[in-house]
Amino acid sequence: MKRPLYLATHNEHKVQEFSAMLGHLWEVRSARQLEQEVGCSITWDETGQTFEENSRIKALALRRYTQAAVLADDSGLVVDALRGAPGIYSSRYAGTPKGTPRTEADLANTMKLLKDIEGVPESSRAARFVCCLVFIDENGREQVFTGTCEGQIGRQPSGDHGFGYDPVFFLPSRGVSMAQLDEAEKNRISHRSMAIARFLDART
Ligand code: IMP
Repeated sequence: MKRPLYLATHNEHKVQEFSAMLGHLWEVRSARQLEQEVGCSITWDETGQTFEENSRIKALALRRYTQAAVLADDSGLVVDALRGAPGIYSSRYAGTPKGTPRTEADLANTMKLLKDIEGVPESSRAARFVCCLVFIDENGREQVFTGTCEGQIGRQPSGDHGFGYDPVFFLPSRGVSMAQLDEAEKNRISHRSMAIARFLDART
C-alpha cells in the first residue's frame, strides 16, 4: 500500500503537477484533504526571505496536523534584469489584495512584469523559474531539493496552458512560451519536475 504524502499547497494546478509526478510512489493528498480530515483550515504566512524559508514554513504548518510525510514547495520567477524580482514575491508582485481570484492576480502580476521590463533588450531578458522543496518524513527528518528552469521574458503573453507567468516565460530552445506546452511537456522540463527528480533520486 502506498504511504500518504500531504502537499502544502492550495493551488490545484500544483496538486495536479505533483500528483502526476509522484502518484506512482505516494498516495498524494492535498492540503484541502488534510483540512477536511482535521476539520479546520490550515494557513501560513510566507514571511521567509528565501524560497527555502517559505517552503519550510509551509511544510511545518501541515506537520502540526499530521504525522504523515509532508512536501512543501515555494517557487517563483527570478528575472536578472530586475535584480531577482519578483522572486519570493512572485504570487503577489502586483499587490492584488489577498483573496483575489488566482487567474486575476496572475494576469495583474504578468502585466506588471511586462511593464517593469519594457525597453530591456532581448539579450538581457534572461529569467528562471525556481522551485525549492522541503520534505519532512514520518520521522520528522527534513530534506531540501531545488530545481530551476531557464528561459527568457517575452514581450507579450502567448499560450493558454499552465498558470502564473507561463504565458510570458519563453523557452528559446523550443521557440514557444511555457503556456504553449501541454501539461505533460511542461512536467518534463519545469523547475518543479527538476526539484522532484532530485527528491525521487534521494529515495532510490
Ligand atoms: P507559491 O505558490 O508561493 O510557490 O508562489 C508561486 C508563484 O510563482 C505563483 O503564484 C506564480 O506567480 C509563480 N510561479 C511558480 N511556478 C510557476 C509556474 O510553473 N508557472 C508560472 N508561474 C509560476
